[in-house]
Amino acid sequence: MVTTATKTALTSRHIEDFKKILGERYVLIDEETLHNYSHDETEDLHFPPDVVLKPRTAEEISAILRICDQNKIPVTPRGAGTGLSGGALPHLGGVLLSTERMNSILHIDHENLQVTTEPGVITEVLQLELKEKGLFYPPDPSSRGSCFIGGNISENSGGPKAVKYGVVKDYVLNLQIVLPTGEIIWTGANVLKNATGYNLTQLIVGSEGTLGIVTKIVLKLLPFPKHDLLMLVPFRSAENACSAVAAIFRAGYVPSAMEFMERDALDFAARYIESNAVIVEDDVQAHLLIEVDGNNMDVLMQDMEGIAGIVAGFDCGEILFADNEQQKAELWKMRRRIGEAVKAHSIYKEEDTVVPRAELPVLLKGVKDIGKKHGFHSVCYGHAGDGNLHVNIIRGNLTEEQWNGSLKEGIIEIFELVKRLGGTISGEHGIGLVQKEYMNIIFDDTQMRLMKEIKKIFDPNNILNAGKIFD
Ligand SMILES: Cc1cc2nc3c(=O)[nH]c(=O)nc-3n(C[C@H](O)[C@H](O)[C@H](O)COP(=O)(O)OP(=O)(O)OC[C@H]3O[C@@H](n4cnc5c(N)ncnc54)[C@H](O)[C@@H]3O)c2cc1C
Repeated sequence: MVTTATKTALTSRHIEDFKKILGERYVLIDEETLHNYSHDETEDLHFPPDVVLKPRTAEEISAILRICDQNKIPVTPRGAGTGLSGGALPHLGGVLLSTERMNSILHIDHENLQVTTEPGVITEVLQLELKEKGLFYPPDPSSRGSCFIGGNISENSGGPKAVKYGVVKDYVLNLQIVLPTGEIIWTGANVLKNATGYNLTQLIVGSEGTLGIVTKIVLKLLPFPKHDLLMLVPFRSAENACSAVAAIFRAGYVPSAMEFMERDALDFAARYIESNAVIVEDDVQAHLLIEVDGNNMDVLMQDMEGIAGIVAGFDCGEILFADNEQQKAELWKMRRRIGEAVKAHSIYKEEDTVVPRAELPVLLKGVKDIGKKHGFHSVCYGHAGDGNLHVNIIRGNLTEEQWNGSLKEGIIEIFELVKRLGGTISGEHGIGLVQKEYMNIIFDDTQMRLMKEIKKIFDPNNILNAGKIFD
């Protein structure tokens, strides 16, 4: 029988042992620190840990995990805490293991177009450092200014560029991890092809800190594209905007971003960042933000013209072509800050639905119909080119009973619709703590058993992020 780690297992003796490993300074038990690490960006959930540990090396993590494993002390790994599914919430108390001090970019290998980095590097810091050398690491979550690359690996994060360049899993070549039992391993090799045994690297990507702690990361890179062009297309119907998405790809274009924003999403963001860069006509219901990139400006101009011709067939308004870098930056800022803007407006539940691209209009209509039936308002936006629609359900005036009770029926209906459309319940934000109760909509008993058996092999005492993804 597997016993789950419990909060009570941590004693002052263990705290003293942690201090011997890390030094006093990096073992924190004061109220303020425990509060600061009790939440991530998921709704308004708080679970204080018993202690916050800030190791610097894989060896220190190994020593910590050996103690926790022997004593069945729960351990929650944490990156920057920007997660939206509660993966970094220490809901069982115990140890909160922060990777924030592991923040060095170790080696940029220009010859092989690779970078080796520690997990606590902020994604945008890594991207900018690479860009200076003409190198491109495309996965760009909208939170890239604050999230860590280790968190991105653990969530298999995406972002606007995923539509052309793929998500994190497409760039990870090799990982150093510390197993819950304390062993330190590399999962693969620093090569572009690898047909040698099971793919442990990809098993760790997206495993949400439940199988091991990622301590070094080797990523594949691309040359940085020389040019990009950006346009904002208003639509009188949100469903039409969604229908235009698949039509653009069917016509042979591969934009480097294809973002959908319902009217509310853009309005909230514009107010939040105090921007008047976009004047939205009264009859506009949604926008597509479309980017193309590459090395040949003539080709990009032709692509933009071709895409403009296609969207015209979907009853769009006047297209805004960003004609300078400042305008591009302003439009991107608006898009990237929608999540924060919605949160500033009201607490919300984030559903990270994803369906085959051409099903997006059906999904959007279904979400709105379900909302009407159950009496909730949602703000929808997301990476439309990937069929990935973020449904932000606004708490607004919903009562405690509605918010934590009957709303669940509506969410289940949304997820059942997603499944019928051939999609799944998370495209990039993960399952963590808050989506695990819906896993049985997507997976049957056999699939769940396989996942649980894998977890047991990696973590026999169930200490590492126990109760995340599944119970
Ligand atoms: C405004 C906003 C916009 C966002 N936009 C996007 C987006 O466009 N695309 C997208 O995919 N996500 C997006 N996110 C979600 C979030 O930023 C990502 O999931 C991100 O990858 C989390 O990184 P983090 O460092 O904050 O990880 P955390 O939130 O700290 O942790 C996430 C998970 O990873 C685990 N973990 C962290 N580090 C390690 C490690 N070194 N080893 C093992 N496990 C670890 C944690 O235990 C947890 O389960 C957004 C979030 C916000 C708030």
